[in-house]
Amino acid sequence: MTRSYKIALIKGDGIGPEIIEEAVKVLDAVSYAEGFELKYDEYLLGGAAIDATDDPAPKETLEGVKQADAVLFGAIGGEKWDNLPREKRPETGLLKLRKEMEVFANIRPVTVYNELVNASTLKPSVVQGVDLIVVRELIGGIYFGQPRGNDGNKAFNTMVYSKPEIERIARVAFDIAMKRSKRVCSVDKANVLDVSQLWRDTVEEIAKEYPEVTLTHMYVDNAAMQLIRDPKQFDVILTGNIFGDILSDEASMLSGSIGLLPSASIGEKFGLYEPIHGSAPDIAGQGIANPIATIASAAMMLRYALNEEVAAGRIEQAIKQTLSEGYRTQDLSSYDAKEVCSTSEIGSIIANYAASK
Ligand code: NAD
Repeated sequence: MTRSYKIALIKGDGIGPEIIEEAVKVLDAVSYAEGFELKYDEYLLGGAAIDATDDPAPKETLEGVKQADAVLFGAIGGEKWDNLPREKRPETGLLKLRKEMEVFANIRPVTVYNELVNASTLKPSVVQGVDLIVVRELIGGIYFGQPRGNDGNKAFNTMVYSKPEIERIARVAFDIAMKRSKRVCSVDKANVLDVSQLWRDTVEEIAKEYPEVTLTHMYVDNAAMQLIRDPKQFDVILTGNIFGDILSDEASMLSGSIGLLPSASIGEKFGLYEPIHGSAPDIAGQGIANPIATIASAAMMLRYALNEEVAAGRIEQAIKQTLSEGYRTQDLSSYDAKEVCSTSEIGSIIANYAASK
């Protein structure tokens, strides 16, 4: 029987609809070539949902996504909704969706494409060949810990992790490492923080379940420095919420363009796949957005949610081929461009390469 999957599509605002359209084009090409079927259901979130329903995260969306095998998401937000009260704003809708889906692991790969080594602000010799993944705990730690407060004179937050929370995120990192070069670097601040000591001890315990994986530990201040000094030393970086927030943004800049980087947020039951950038209202509707981050997110969806590794690899290879042939969207037009393409043109080129072996 044909393998068949249900995908919830959330296009969102700004460039969201344009980049999701290209990801669907590529998914359709690769699923046809690999002999499986994808069925799409569309849901509203963010500004588009506010306009249609007066709610940034309508019940239909929060319930509908749970019926799907995975969610592919564009981006939300824009000036039009910036002055609404906080609970009505597009960003609130996205936070609600993540919470509802209980996606506790944020996975951000950073790949520096050979053809774009000059796009980074770092020297090509430093970034060439970088291929790492940051695995960040997303729904715990200091951003959510209780008690928290601010009386105008004194303010405090609590950095807290339970052992099960550390165990489950550690397993995600080790599972990913098993599919790569079997190295995990766990980042903490165990020389100062009790919570980091529990983190380190627990990660050590989980490592025993993965005897083939080499585990190292690094303090977060050193990790921030090493990411710039010699990023190639890293494969999988495992870390908590606040450290991961900062390090994953730092790591994303190794590649030089925000339009290239995908992400996945996964939980026990659900997965949300999205580019790391926002809705780019400044270029929306002009056909110049770079869809590669979204197309690469679709590849992650095939790999992590649907276990369609071959199809995921085809898409990643197609992106590399497109870039090495010199096809560029406008954001990358100064870096060895042979031809500057529209959003739709580059989507079609990637789809064609992905469909042919
Ligand atoms: P942004 O990421 O949307 O844009 C930053 C800059 O990068 C802009 O100049 C934009 O044109 C450019 N850019 C972004 N993606 C691009 C792409 N694919 N191709 C070419 N250029 C691209 O960040 P911002 O301007 O700070 O935010 C715009 C809106 O997006 C805001 O409403 C913000 O709240 C929202 N936002 C949403 C998400 C999300 O949906 N996950 C994330 C971040 C920001």
